[in-house]
Amino acid sequence: MNYVIPTPQQAVLTVDGSDGLYPVRRIYCVGRNYAEHIREMGNDERDPPFFFQKPTDAVLPNGENFPYPPLSSDVHHEIELIVAIGKGGKDIEKADALDHVFGYAVGVDMTRRDLQAQAKEMRRPWEYGKAFDKSAPCSSLKAASDIGHPGEGRIWLEINGETKQDGDLAQQIWNVQETIWHLSKSVELAPGDLIMTGTPSGVGPISRGDHITGGADGIGELDFKVV
Ligand code: MN
Repeated sequence: MNYVIPTPQQAVLTVDGSDGLYPVRRIYCVGRNYAEHIREMGNDERDPPFFFQKPTDAVLPNGENFPYPPLSSDVHHEIELIVAIGKGGKDIEKADALDHVFGYAVGVDMTRRDLQAQAKEMRRPWEYGKAFDKSAPCSSLKAASDIGHPGEGRIWLEINGETKQDGDLAQQIWNVQETIWHLSKSVELAPGDLIMTGTPSGVGPISRGDHITGGADGIGELDFKVV
């Protein structure tokens, strides 16, 4: 194939215990999925889940510096379980949903909270708040064939060694099966799709120079600096 401009680089995640790379196609994010975080943001936890997207190349491999983004002075961390789709489909039944999962990772849904708040107020899309460059620091993936499908386990984030978020995957309002079921009613999922499944309570601001660590038990860990 002949392209008229240089071809964009394929975003990838590494896979623990494998030389192969996981190519990223789309990044979906669940808006609200832990009751305490919904309460801390002043919303109603009975609402059905909703989704937004980050650009594929927002993936920032673990260990690389996170550059504080422009246009914001209130960037927040949101630690999240990431589901990596291995087999596509639409209208996926809950009972079959886990068959579509390649594996899991942990990541941070970095958020320009000030711009998100402004968007909410002005009834504009969340894009400016959520979909900026390098807004998705991600750990490497673990294959479900190695670790199974964790429905519980600690998920946490620390700034400079101080715990800020400390939740459990079992606290998700919509579990992984239900999230895939919901999302696949709206779009056809395909191999390479990541789903960031929402954050527990304790979100807050980060600053240049901060050392961020975090993880999800048995799934992955993150360790990077804000510059
Ligand atoms: Mn989030």
